[in-house]
Amino acid sequence: MYPRSFEYVAPSSLDEALAALNDHPGAKVMTGGMSLIPLMKLRLFSPPLVVDIGRVPGLDSIADGNGHIAIGALVRHAATASSDAVASGAAALAQAARLTGDVQVRNRGTTCGALAHADVAADQPAAALALGATMVARSAGGEREIAADDFFVDALTSALEPNEILVEVRVPKAGAGTGSAYDKLGRRGGRSDYAVAGAAAMVTMDGGSVSAARVALTGVGTKPTLATATADALVGTDGSADAIKAAAQHAAEGVTVLEDLYGSVEYKTHLAQVYAARALEAAIAAAG
Ligand SMILES: Cc1cc2nc3c(=O)[nH]c(=O)nc-3n(C[C@H](O)[C@H](O)[C@H](O)COP(=O)(O)OP(=O)(O)OC[C@H]3O[C@@H](n4cnc5c(N)ncnc54)[C@H](O)[C@@H]3O)c2cc1C
Repeated sequence: MYPRSFEYVAPSSLDEALAALNDHPGAKVMTGGMSLIPLMKLRLFSPPLVVDIGRVPGLDSIADGNGHIAIGALVRHAATASSDAVASGAAALAQAARLTGDVQVRNRGTTCGALAHADVAADQPAAALALGATMVARSAGGEREIAADDFFVDALTSALEPNEILVEVRVPKAGAGTGSAYDKLGRRGGRSDYAVAGAAAMVTMDGGSVSAARVALTGVGTKPTLATATADALVGTDGSADAIKAAAQHAAEGVTVLEDLYGSVEYKTHLAQVYAARALEAAIAAAG
């Protein structure tokens, strides 16, 4: 199906892009177009104006800063996946980017686009949530920071205002004793394609015990969700296989698990437990 007719602009500066969004209610930002264009073709989105920010300079780098890694709005999944800084400082995000779609999608789609799009079954939102990332949003009125915990609101709905651009995601760099990981079951059985369910985990080990943990699930509800009961159950344990297994049993506690085309509530609950355990095991191994 063809999209409904729309106007298109490709500004050459961020200010121009923000002004276009401000002046045209209902306008949509485009980065990779990997989700926006299919949704426009299905006529699920029909924006009157598409603001393609692909030519805005200064948004395509990964900066390894003091305490965090900053990933700009135009950084493609492939660049996030292959970045040494992301792999060593925020491994779960590199792994999630590596498992996002196919080669074409990874070479066009962007990490910030995947976060802004907030698909229920996407990979990188769960990793950003487990890692405690911060979203940097810019509008014509200025800049604000949104914690990942507050960013994912509902299906395809983030906390971004319609006139805001997610210019950067800042991911805290893992310190000594901290490791993170992401894993999923893809819709076609392997790891490619959207997640039926998956989990990201970040764990800090201190003197042989777990001093901090965060686990985030994808694919089980309407948005990426923290599995706080699992994290709480793991903290204070020795992080052994038995402790992981016991904690992972709580993965769906307090989480709204929903049936969809890919699985029942029972199956999704089971996958949440399995993938929480796998992500925790890998995160603890990485924590050393
Ligand atoms: C065949 C196929 C397979 C895929 N498989 C997977 C998969 O396995 N896992 C997975 O997680 N994803 C998958 N995706 C989705 C893919 O990762 C997209 O790249 C991603 O969801 C959106 O990134 P984008 O840069 O292409 O954003 P766009 O398509 O350009 O935009 C998507 C939405 O986000 C908004 N947006 C984008 N960037 C910004 C910004 N900087 N600020 C504000 N709003 C913004 C747009 O307005 C739009 O509403 C797949 C897509 C396709 C086509």
